[in-house]
Amino acid sequence: MVSIPATMQVIAVENAGKDSTLRIEQRAVPQPSAEQLLVKVAAAGINRADLMQRRGLYPPPEGESDILGLEVAGVVVAAGPLHKSWLGKAVFGLVPGGGYAEYALLHAGHAMAVPAGYSMAEAAATAEVFLTAYQLLCSIGNLQTNQRVLIHAGASGVGTAAIQLAKAIGAKVAVTASSAEKLAICTALGAELAINYKTTAFEQELASHWPQGVDLVLDPVAGEYISREMRLLAMDGKIVLYAMMGGHDIPQLNLAPLFKRRGQLICSTLRNRSNRYKTNLTQAFSQAFATMLAQRQIQPVLQQQFDWRQAQIAHQLMASNATIGKLVLTF
Ligand code: NAP
Repeated sequence: MVSIPATMQVIAVENAGKDSTLRIEQRAVPQPSAEQLLVKVAAAGINRADLMQRRGLYPPPEGESDILGLEVAGVVVAAGPLHKSWLGKAVFGLVPGGGYAEYALLHAGHAMAVPAGYSMAEAAATAEVFLTAYQLLCSIGNLQTNQRVLIHAGASGVGTAAIQLAKAIGAKVAVTASSAEKLAICTALGAELAINYKTTAFEQELASHWPQGVDLVLDPVAGEYISREMRLLAMDGKIVLYAMMGGHDIPQLNLAPLFKRRGQLICSTLRNRSNRYKTNLTQAFSQAFATMLAQRQIQPVLQQQFDWRQAQIAHQLMASNATIGKLVLTF
């Protein structure tokens, strides 16, 4: 029987807004409901959503923890009555918040067993980016073998996962990123066309290599990218927007190029999906890719681990756009 303390240390946000800071706070250890597991957190993935939440731009879904952190890895120390078989197991998965804490609640349907040989940090770097990439490429994008996909921010957390999944599906991958170092990682992961968007107009480069167009674009940039992407689509192609890092306004939008190609412009989120949706997504991903993950045919790109007390430094690094793959806090 593991003894669970009444209180735990968490990272709390002070002065949510552009001048927010992080500090350590004492909070009650949460109690799992019938559907939940209580995880002693060993590592928590860092996501840009955490940075936005700090700034007051991305509030947690109603009723969920206000503590930052959307994914954890750790050991199950308590469980609802139907989920006792998880007790003592090493798990990882998505949480709706509450990851930057010594203990976190994980919905039992969102738990995945940590693959043998994976560190907790690697496991904590896996759920958010691979489930997002799976959702964008497969559930929404319906990407097929031999189709062509353009993945912007190829060296990002989501980008590095998406390149690997797209290759595993047998698709052809093009990426954009801002530096030679980032492009080299994308190529090593399997991208066949890697474009530095700072020095080259990506649409020109892509049109000359793939005149038949792309079937799918994964876009976290939005803004002025959208008009440029519409002209790159093959017939029935899709642009899936999953963030708006480049802005939400589309200057002088002309829909004709999209219409001519019977194209689709789709927006996707993950955090505010229902527990049932996330359970189905987790299961579908596991069914398709757990073996490849365990055999490291696909794996997270983990740039750096930080002691959890250094979350502020890790956030600054992510905000600088200098990261490749994932950053993780270890407890
Ligand atoms: P990340 O690992 O922090 O990487 C983001 C990268 O995007 C940066 O390193 C930078 O790479 C590039 N970038 C940033 N601003 C840009 C801009 N204005 N134009 C072009 N490229 C830019 O991020 P991530 O974890 O992969 O997440 C990417 C975005 O998706 C975040 O906004 C995140 O919140 C969102 N997200 C959405 C979902 C969803 O389901 N909707 C799920 C997960 C994440 P370069 O140096 O190459 O430019």
